[in-house]
Amino acid sequence: MLPLMPRDARLLPVFAGTPVDRRGRVLRDVRLSVTDRCNFRCGYCMPAEQFGQDFAFLPRAELLTFDEIALVARALIGLGARTLRITGGEPLVRRDVDQLVKLLRNLDALPELQGEPLDLALTTNGSLLESLAAPLHAAGLNRLTVSLDSLNPATFAQMSGSALPLSTVLAGIAAARTVGFHHLKLNCVVRRGVNDAGVEALVNYAREGGHTIRFIEYMDVGTSNGWRLDEVVPAAEIVARISARHPIEPIGPSRPGEVAARYRFSDGAGEIGIIASVTAPFCGDCTRARVSADGHLYTCLFATDGLALKPLVRPEPDLARLSHALRSRWEQRDDRYSELREAMGEQHLEKVEMFRVGG
Ligand code: SAM
Ligand code: SF4
Ligand code: SF4
Repeated sequence: MLPLMPRDARLLPVFAGTPVDRRGRVLRDVRLSVTDRCNFRCGYCMPAEQFGQDFAFLPRAELLTFDEIALVARALIGLGARTLRITGGEPLVRRDVDQLVKLLRNLDALPELQGEPLDLALTTNGSLLESLAAPLHAAGLNRLTVSLDSLNPATFAQMSGSALPLSTVLAGIAAARTVGFHHLKLNCVVRRGVNDAGVEALVNYAREGGHTIRFIEYMDVGTSNGWRLDEVVPAAEIVARISARHPIEPIGPSRPGEVAARYRFSDGAGEIGIIASVTAPFCGDCTRARVSADGHLYTCLFATDGLALKPLVRPEPDLARLSHALRSRWEQRDDRYSELREAMGEQHLEKVEMFRVGG
């Protein structure tokens, strides 16, 4: 069995004025959730039994506007953020999301960036990509991740909890390539006994299409998914399964704070990633913050409370107060939930849901 690649604990260079949290970590990556709504009902995120027709999602007035999101992003760039990932819920169900991409791309002109363009990414379930890939690319998005849990139509339907056919997502992936997203990332959450038998088929699909596929250990995010440890397929098992078919070798992270352990195919046909947040936590170099659709800053995916940003951006935006509040929140940060998971045992926490905080 191949060892899991040890994670790179190197921290980024700290410049004067960059806030550092209580564990020595800087802020680098921001997930911006633009909606808590979704047209899928993945059981690991938003199970259909609990999120039915009458579920009360956020009213529109509660969502941060695109201008407000861009202002929060601007403040976070001032504190060190260089990667912005638009997510949700399903970000493509928010109308005109390409307009947000344009606003964020305009932030490239900020002096803090010293001419280095922002890394602007988006994660989607792919269902609406066929028509939206072109405007997103034209607006300046430079990276796209598509979630794809199975290539078997029946298993795909079971995982997504949706009647939307797999072929629509595959058409979205093809459209994204055509418009210029040449190197896509594909995300697959692996659930034992549900989609784990399809790992090899996904690897073949990704290799043939020139995509990087990342397998994610099923996580205990939120309180709705009824997570059980025995449904988690450990990263080492996934690696062993793939390497039995295609020899792979570990490679280092492409950048500090990268969440996936990376492997390349020994025959040179690309790479895969494994996100082992359950069996090999990587809190030590976690440089991520999340902004929920209703404007709260969370400093951990498993946080129980967030910093309310709306009073700082409405009715009148106040960049100085916003920056100050964000800085002091980052400086107080002490999160390392995944490292403490085992020690906490059955302790019940009211953790924020993934579709609210942004996956
Ligand atoms: N709707 C978009 C999508 O599915 O790609 C973006 C939001 S979704 C919350 C972001 C990512 O989180 C997806 O790749 C999804 O598979 C992953 N995710 C959601 N719940 C998860 C869980 N319990 N464990 C691991 N990954 C999860
Ligand atoms: Fe929707 Fe993404 Fe959650 Fe699935 S993982 S229910 S596609 S937000
Ligand atoms: Fe970061 Fe929290 Fe995940 Fe640890 S558990 S890697 S601190 S988001």
